[in-house]
Amino acid sequence: MTTPRLVVLGSINVDHIMNISQFPKPGETIIGHHYQIAFGGKGANQAVACGRSGADITFIACVGDDAIGRQIISQLKTDNIHTDTIRVIPKTPTGVAMILVNEDGENVISIVSGANGALTPSYLEQYHHVIKKADALLMQLESPLETVFQAAKLAKENQTLVVLNPAPAQLLSDEFLSFIDIITPNETEAEILTGICVQDEANAQKAADILHSKGIKRVLITLGQRGVWFSEQGDGKIISGFKVEAIDTIAAGDTFNGAFVTAILEGQSSLDAVRFAHAAAAIAVTRHGAQSSIPWRDEINSFLE
Ligand code: ADP
Repeated sequence: MTTPRLVVLGSINVDHIMNISQFPKPGETIIGHHYQIAFGGKGANQAVACGRSGADITFIACVGDDAIGRQIISQLKTDNIHTDTIRVIPKTPTGVAMILVNEDGENVISIVSGANGALTPSYLEQYHHVIKKADALLMQLESPLETVFQAAKLAKENQTLVVLNPAPAQLLSDEFLSFIDIITPNETEAEILTGICVQDEANAQKAADILHSKGIKRVLITLGQRGVWFSEQGDGKIISGFKVEAIDTIAAGDTFNGAFVTAILEGQSSLDAVRFAHAAAAIAVTRHGAQSSIPWRDEINSFLE
């Protein structure tokens, strides 16, 4: 089996998660009953999913000049990720997400992008050679949009496969979309990108067709426990996921993306790659947390046996 050369460009956040009975009103203090610090950020989660599922992966990202940033880099190394391309940005904090979860499982989240904001197009120039040499580039939208645009353009010009997970959802220009080879929105993101509410198969294909018309060859609309709407050059179908007892769907999409790209680069067919990614994501939803839930290759292989 060939080891794929994959570059992930994206965000690193530290998540501060507090469980409380109800959200505080302005001026109010509420005593929480559980608190944890977890490593997150869509970029980092997807990089971890790639590393654990067996890719030769380099992660372009930034952390702050703080203890947690250095701790995150050490942790990413243990997940088989090349981290020489992660920079510590002086006098800047690592990206942070403050997450309050109430008794009903609802959450409110505030993010300060911190060092992630330093991933500018001019900063990226030092890594152009890394992107040019890669077989694939996987990105999300938690980094400055102009940098993601620049990286996609450069990759496209150098025949590097460009995979975009367009999360968090936002509108993207036609020029940007023309650089993308594979796009993986969930239902909400597909609706924001195309204006089509993906509530049935006909509409899923309508949304996929709009994305194909921008030049994107493969469209995967993830549908949670229902699986994925997979469309290649206008020919779409549902590929069901695995039935499992889900306890926490945090990072399901990130796990799916990392595993899918890894499998594609290994030369697996699109359908096999989706099946592999479904297995990885199905394992992840049976476990708590983001990066803590992402499976290793041998676990995915055992699941598929
Ligand atoms: P996101 O987390 O980006 O919103 P989805 O919720 O669409 O993404 O889920 C991504 C993938 O994770 C799905 O295509 C599927 O493979 C897997 N998945 C999500 N929820 C479940 C579930 N309850 N049971 C099994 N697999 C799931």
